[in-house]
Amino acid sequence: MISTDVILDTANILMEKAAIDIPDDYLTGLKKAADEEEGDLSSFVLQAMLENYEAAKEDRRAMCGDTGTPRWYVKFGNEAQVTGGPIALEETLRRATADSTKRIPLRPNRVHPLWRTDHNNNIGIGAPEIEYGFEPEGSWIDITTVHKGGLFGTDYRMLFPGDGIEGIKRFYLDSLVAFGRRGLACQPAIIGIGLGGSKDTSMVLGKRAACLRIVGDRNPDPEIAKLEDEFKEIGNSIGMGAMGFVGKSMVIDCHIEVGCCHTGGMPMSVHAFCLSSRRASARLHADGSVEFRTDPQWFTPYQRRETVEWPLNNQNSQKSA
Ligand code: SF4
Repeated sequence: MISTDVILDTANILMEKAAIDIPDDYLTGLKKAADEEEGDLSSFVLQAMLENYEAAKEDRRAMCGDTGTPRWYVKFGNEAQVTGGPIALEETLRRATADSTKRIPLRPNRVHPLWRTDHNNNIGIGAPEIEYGFEPEGSWIDITTVHKGGLFGTDYRMLFPGDGIEGIKRFYLDSLVAFGRRGLACQPAIIGIGLGGSKDTSMVLGKRAACLRIVGDRNPDPEIAKLEDEFKEIGNSIGMGAMGFVGKSMVIDCHIEVGCCHTGGMPMSVHAFCLSSRRASARLHADGSVEFRTDPQWFTPYQRRETVEWPLNNQNSQKSA
């Protein structure tokens, strides 16, 4: 049984890690982009960002003044149990969000859409989002927080099967150019693409592709993995670099996730996980121990399963859970 005390302590630590400590995989990607960038202003931005991350870490202050809209991803091993059940879990994550907003501090970004009511703690109707997943084995829960910027850097288009890969590329490049020219989400970013599903699924897949996979990770489908490589390259060949200035460092990495869709369409979403790619994860075990990491490890073989059944002793799920 996992206690809410352990969940609260862990969730508070995760909030701080996400807001302040840039994940190693993104940092490594950014350093590489900084080494290769030739545009003056883009190079300047990249160096400034690298210094900014160091300053944030040293002062234990949030890496960006806009601390985004905190959300949670919770994954249960099939045998996991939480004291008080799911209601207690949700209350604990809401408590950690409110406490951390004051303690770190984070900007209280969440307001009512009409009345602009601000509880000053990033809590409100539907906020923070808490999404769930499950794995076939284990008595642990994984908790990930993501503080994605909540305004721009996201787009959706209903494509048709005949649009093919060329149509996908066109929408991808249209989106990047729009993000860069209009200052929508600070680049370089991790770009997530959701392909298929229904409209809402496509958006969810794209966001998770951007926020829940680390730089360098590749889709297990080799053809999709090739597209990810190609999209990273062409995204860095449109003449824009950091913050949309002239350069070649717009995309730190590109991840594509797919879901089956209606035979008549091919929904697609594009999401930019910005210069402040804020995420942090932990695994909480039934014995009270906690392991922190920066890789959410969300997309396992079970999350991408195609079959009706999934034997509980499946080796693939064991390996990656
Ligand atoms: S897009 Fe990201 S880096 Fe830019 S202001 Fe928003 S949170 Fe900060």
